[in-house]
Amino acid sequence: MCVKKNTCVNLQIEQPYVCDKIIEEFGNEIYFAIEHSYLEPHEFCGAFIKECGTYENPLNQPWPLIIPGNKPSVKPWPIVPDGKPKMRVLHLADIHVDREYAIGSESLCSNDEGLVYAFCCRDYPPESNVGKADIKFPAPKWGIAENCDIPFITFDESMRLISLQEKFDYIIVTGDLESHAIWDYTKETTAANIANITATLLKYFPGIPVYQAVGNHEGVPMDAFAPHSIPEYEIRGPQWLYTVLNDNWGHWIPESVKESLQYRGSYSFHPFDGLKLISLNTVYCSHWNFYLFINASDPDMTLDWLAKELLDSEQKGEKVHIISHIPSGDSYCLKSFSANYYSLINRFENTIAAQFFGHTHNDHFYMYFDDANPKNRATHTAFVAPSLTTYSYLNPAYRVYTIDGNYPGSSFTVIDEENYWANLTEVNANDKLEFKLEYNKRVSRLALPHFIPEQRKC
Ligand SMILES: [Zn+2]
Ligand SMILES: [Zn+2]
Repeated sequence: MCVKKNTCVNLQIEQPYVCDKIIEEFGNEIYFAIEHSYLEPHEFCGAFIKECGTYENPLNQPWPLIIPGNKPSVKPWPIVPDGKPKMRVLHLADIHVDREYAIGSESLCSNDEGLVYAFCCRDYPPESNVGKADIKFPAPKWGIAENCDIPFITFDESMRLISLQEKFDYIIVTGDLESHAIWDYTKETTAANIANITATLLKYFPGIPVYQAVGNHEGVPMDAFAPHSIPEYEIRGPQWLYTVLNDNWGHWIPESVKESLQYRGSYSFHPFDGLKLISLNTVYCSHWNFYLFINASDPDMTLDWLAKELLDSEQKGEKVHIISHIPSGDSYCLKSFSANYYSLINRFENTIAAQFFGHTHNDHFYMYFDDANPKNRATHTAFVAPSLTTYSYLNPAYRVYTIDGNYPGSSFTVIDEENYWANLTEVNANDKLEFKLEYNKRVSRLALPHFIPEQRKC
């Protein structure tokens, strides 16, 4: 087995103390996956490390998904007339609170060691070699745009400030609530952190619904979401997490979703007449989900379930919003899952009104195209919101959408988007957290007057 401490240390991925802990955290899952996988060890290894076997992820081999037929004729993207009711929706992505953020600890802890990963702004125990030298760049009170997550105070004050900005119609949170100390995850701390974030949202946004999707950092270990098809599901599956999510998200979503959420971490319901919201668990496409080396074909029938949900909405003439964590097309998502998801978006382009993702921590979007069309017609956009965390080398950010609705016949399309950010250099200097509007997409130089996918083509 090549994924071991020496590799971690020799490649200077992390400090030896963390390498030890990472093996403790992931070792059992990786050994189990190798033991039960049909892959050869060199294939397993080569999927992750270039120096070890052929660098091609065998999980990228295609698996089939039945895409429902009888696609209706394509309708033009709706142009929303002025004067219609609008909804304002807050999108929080990748919060990543570090419960052990330590003011005054080294914020550039990889500086002297040439490490490629090194997670900083923490007090490491004496047996580590971090923090033994003099602290050169102490972690400030409100966080810093380095390889650090945000302290709880920054999350709490962000929520207070955002709640004062305006009254949102609802909030979406697209996963990754935990810190990047991936060697340190336990079910207890993850559950406590989720409960803490739930309590904070309830405190600052009373009466405002919050709809969430699960992120890969909610897994213990990270990304360890075993589908029902693997052996020992009872002890290895993420049902403990889905119970935690049901307990916490149950403040805002109906009882009717519980069974689906408990089974696959995905759910759907109707927040408004004519709109179905689908929360899709895309950790089942993560290339760091080692259980997929045992079976990666549509884990827990997630895309088959999505296809049926979309078909049902098409038949009822309703619109769909998808909220999820890992965007299809991102290299983190296995290719076959991405390709099948892409096909579903194109098949149901009339029905899907919007898709919202996180995970990348960046402010950007993905495009979908009608590959059969000679002009490569753009069919859809997936909105990816910037992260609240500073990891890595980022300032905290969030996004607000203006959405057509809610009235009979609403298109539920996104008609505007505003991105806000906090300059942590100023925030720490003034000891005052403050967010500013970075840009408004409809009136910015990007000039997207109607948010039509075709307008976004390069
Ligand atoms: Zn994240
Ligand atoms: Zn993520």
